[in-house]
Amino acid sequence: MKVLNIDPDSPLFGYIRPGYKLVSINGDPVQDVIDFRFRTIGDNVSIKFSDPKGEEFDFDFEEIEGDLGITLDDHRVKFCKNDCIFCFISQQPQGMRRVLYFREEDYRLSFTHGNFITLSNTTQADLDRIIEQRLSPLYVSVHATDDKLRRCMLRNEKLPDILPRLKLLTENGIIIHSQVVLCPDVNDGKHLEKTINDLAALYPGVESLAVVPVGLTKYRKRLAELRAYNAEEANQIIDRIEEIQKQLFKVHGTRFVWPGDEFYVQADREFPKLKEYEIMSQFENGIGMAREFISSFNRRRAGLKNIRSDKRVMMFTGFSAYPFLSKDMIPYVKETLGLDLSLERISNRFWGESVTVSGLLTGQDLLRRARALSDKFDTLILPPNCLNNDNLVLDNLPLEQFEEVLKKPVLVGQYNFAATIKEAFA
Ligand code: SF4
Repeated sequence: MKVLNIDPDSPLFGYIRPGYKLVSINGDPVQDVIDFRFRTIGDNVSIKFSDPKGEEFDFDFEEIEGDLGITLDDHRVKFCKNDCIFCFISQQPQGMRRVLYFREEDYRLSFTHGNFITLSNTTQADLDRIIEQRLSPLYVSVHATDDKLRRCMLRNEKLPDILPRLKLLTENGIIIHSQVVLCPDVNDGKHLEKTINDLAALYPGVESLAVVPVGLTKYRKRLAELRAYNAEEANQIIDRIEEIQKQLFKVHGTRFVWPGDEFYVQADREFPKLKEYEIMSQFENGIGMAREFISSFNRRRAGLKNIRSDKRVMMFTGFSAYPFLSKDMIPYVKETLGLDLSLERISNRFWGESVTVSGLLTGQDLLRRARALSDKFDTLILPPNCLNNDNLVLDNLPLEQFEEVLKKPVLVGQYNFAATIKEAFA
C-alpha cells in the first residue's frame, strides 16, 4: 500500500513522504488499513517503508500511542461469489455508473461500514483474522439456515454451511447482526421459523435479526420469478414475528428479531413504539427508522410554533413514506402551525412502481414531477436520502440542475423533520 498523506503531527512526518510504500511491520506484510492499525498498536513496533526508488527505511518504536497519522491507499475490495435470485444489482438497467454494477462483499467493509455480507468469499484465514483482530460486530445476510435452500437462493453451489461459521465466530467473541431478505414462497413460512430459531439459539453472539421484504424492480427479464408481498401477507408476517418476539423476550430479555419498516407500510399498520426497537441495532437497515423519524418530530415540534411564513413549500417523497408523513406530521404543520406545506408522492417510473422507497427515486422522475407542479410551490424539498455525497441524484443529476430548471430554491430534507420545516420556511 502506498502512503497518501502524513499528518504533520505524525512521528514519521519529515521522514517519509506521500508515494512511499509500506513494506512490512515487524517483518510481516500488511494486508490493509485495518491490519495496519492493528499491528501499529502497542510496544516494539518496527515499520519498514520503501521510497519510489526502492530504498528501504526501518522505523522502530518502543511504544505507539494512538494513531500514527498516516493515510494509506487501500482500495482493494473483495467481490461476492453469489448470484442471488433477488440481487438488486442484477435488476438494474444498462448504462448506469459502472460502480453500481459492482457486487462488493468484503468482511472489512462489514466491520467498518456495517455492509451486509454472506461469508461466501471468506476463507479460513479470513475467519482466523476476524477473530484475532476482533473485527466485531459483523453484519451477515443469512436468508435461510437450511443450507440447501440458502445455496439455491444465493445460486452458489460452493457456499459453505452458514451455522458452523456463525458458531465459530460467535464462540470467539464476534458479535453478528443478521438479516433475512424474505421472498414469498421461497424462504418464508416454516423456513423463516427455522432460521429465526437457529439464529436465536446463537444469541447473544448473534445479537439481532432483521427480516426485510425482497425489493423488485421492473428490470427482471431472464431472472428468477419473484413477486412482492401483498398487504394481507405483510400483516401475517408481522403478527408471527411479533409473537416470536414475545417468546424470545421471555427467554433472552430481547425481542431479537424485527420486521423491516416496509412490512408495516405494506400492511398499513402502526409502527411499534420506540422502546420496542430496544437499542435500534439495525436502524440503518430500516428497522425502526420510520418510528424514530416520527418520534423525533413529536419531541421537537413545539419548537416550530413561532414560525410565520406565507411561502408555499412542497415536499417530495416516495410511496412508502407517504402514508406516515401524511397521517399526523403534515397535518400538524398545515393545520396547527398554519404553514402552506404540501406533500407529493413520486412514483418511480425509472425502476418500476414496485420500488417505493424515496432513496431510489431518480433525478429524471423527480425533475419531471417538479416541472409539472412548479406553479404550485415557492420552495421544493427533495427526500433526504436521494442524493449521494457529491450532491448527485442516482442518475447523476446534480442538485443545482433542479434550481436552474425550476428557478426556485430546492432543499434536501434532513432526517430531522422539524429542522427541515424550519429551514424551508425560514
Ligand atoms: S451477495 Fe447476493 S445480493 Fe449481495 S451483491 Fe452478491 S449477488 Fe447481490
